[in-house]
Amino acid sequence: MDSFTPNSFFTRVCIIGSGPGAHTAAIYAARAELKPILFEGWLANDIAAGGQLTTTSDVENFPGFPEGIGGLEITDKFRAQSIRFGTQILTETVTSVDFSSRPFIVTSDSTTVTADSVIVATGAVARRLKFPGSEEFWNRGISACAVCDGAAPIFRNNPIAVVGGGDSAMEEANFLTKYGSKVYIVHRRDAFRASKIMQARVLENPKIEVLWNSQVSQAYGDKGPLAGLKVKNIVTGEVKDVEVNGLFFAIGHEPATKFLNGQLDLDSDGYVVTKPGTTETSVKGVFAAGDVQDKKYRQAITAAGTGCMAALEAEHYLQEIGPQANL
Ligand SMILES: Cc1cc2nc3c(=O)[nH]c(=O)nc-3n(C[C@H](O)[C@H](O)[C@H](O)COP(=O)(O)OP(=O)(O)OC[C@H]3O[C@@H](n4cnc5c(N)ncnc54)[C@H](O)[C@@H]3O)c2cc1C
Repeated sequence: MDSFTPNSFFTRVCIIGSGPGAHTAAIYAARAELKPILFEGWLANDIAAGGQLTTTSDVENFPGFPEGIGGLEITDKFRAQSIRFGTQILTETVTSVDFSSRPFIVTSDSTTVTADSVIVATGAVARRLKFPGSEEFWNRGISACAVCDGAAPIFRNNPIAVVGGGDSAMEEANFLTKYGSKVYIVHRRDAFRASKIMQARVLENPKIEVLWNSQVSQAYGDKGPLAGLKVKNIVTGEVKDVEVNGLFFAIGHEPATKFLNGQLDLDSDGYVVTKPGTTETSVKGVFAAGDVQDKKYRQAITAAGTGCMAALEAEHYLQEIGPQANL
């Protein structure tokens, strides 16, 4: 990295983000001696540097940790591995980018980085509802990721609830019937917006009961994990107790793409569009990895996989353009 004035840097690869996608990209780019600079964010989108895994207690499906590993612990390890190979980490949130000319410009409140290539790995935020008990029982029965947490022992053969009415909610409810004794879907309307085929799978599943026109108004438990929910029918006003040991929010994700200010092609949900089978975006030299470009799998290992792809593709791109002006 060549610096030219305080808080102004030049790099061959600038990485934005701090989850498994960003750090895997950093490890690969640093080992390729590209001296990456990584903006890890400062409570970007209200998530600590390290990303979504910092909001979960145990990660049991990332290979290499047969006993499972804490969410914070694994993100610390990703970061340490990036640093070990020479990544420079800035604990700052990127506020704007300029991809209109080369080198690209990436800016935070106090730093400007000019870069020959950029990897966007800013992730997504799972939407969560707020009601009494929603924070208290977060990670103690309440989650926003059925694939990640559904197999945990506390949910086995116990009743579970899912909040939502779209395809994700249908998929999560069906998936959770593998583990739970019964799955309630709490939905605030009298019809789902999910596709007909997904709805049919849910409505035909004998282990699923739909609570229509309903919303969760409280989560409770007796000092231990989640034991039940107060669910209010918003048409009749009736409030009933629903005994469950699990509650999964399936109300969508918000990809962290606002700071791009329209400079990359996004899909209708705000995810960065990449060329199928690659991490290439609509701007040559800018790559995207992890959940910011993936609304299907949204797992740490898939984010890491695309982080690796982005670094390798950036390396090839940099070879192609050759050494650039040393600013
Ligand atoms: C509760 C929960 C539990 C989960 N459990 C598991 C599990 O057990 N196993 C599993 O495989 N997956 C799990 N997941 C999913 C997994 O966390 C995500 O798929 C993965 O973290 C996505 O990685 P990512 O690299 O896209 O970045 P993210 O983890 O989304 O992190 C990106 C980070 O980049 C930073 N950032 C954002 N904007 C900016 C900016 N403008 N400037 C600088 N930095 C910025 C922020 O710190 C942000 O959080 C879980 C998710 C949740 C919500």
